Amino acid sequence: MLSRLAIRATLAATLVGTLMTPRVAAEGDIRPTHVRSTERHVVDALRQGYDRSPTFRRLVDELEASDVIVYVQPATQLPGSLRGHIRFAVATAANRYLRIFVSAKVRGDAFIALVGHELQHAGEVARSPFVRDDRSLAVLYRVIGDANSAGWDTDAACGIGAIVQDELRRGTRQVNGQ
Ligand SMILES: [Zn+2]
Repeated sequence: MLSRLAIRATLAATLVGTLMTPRVAAEGDIRPTHVRSTERHVVDALRQGYDRSPTFRRLVDELEASDVIVYVQPATQLPGSLRGHIRFAVATAANRYLRIFVSAKVRGDAFIALVGHELQHAGEVARSPFVRDDRSLAVLYRVIGDANSAGWDTDAACGIGAIVQDELRRGTRQVNGQ
């Protein structure tokens, strides 16, 4: 038997499914997706990134089709000069969960580009099924990453951040008719 709440959720899900297909959702939204946040301004940034940047959209869609689920959260304190980083949370039989931390000091399009950079890392993990904890994550980045003073990074992620920022800027210019 369905509880009243479950029936209401089912009805709402049917309605939402008919009217639109949100790909990025807040935790607690009816339709769960693979890129999540509990913070409203992060959810807004995820939606904007998805709508305005084809590269950002491709990254979210890739994660959506994978076993990786990402939680994006703002961080007030990050080690050293880092503006964002990614940690392994937990692996279950069905899914691998990652946490992305992004500097709460960064706002606007720069914040969306920063999330795009970290989503590229999530995609790198999605394409590497052997990564199932922080140790195997470190192994992956010893192979594909470059060490720097802050830890490691990949050329691809740095490139994605710049591309997303550029797409956001060009999209805004088009909207403004410039
Ligand atoms: Zn990076």
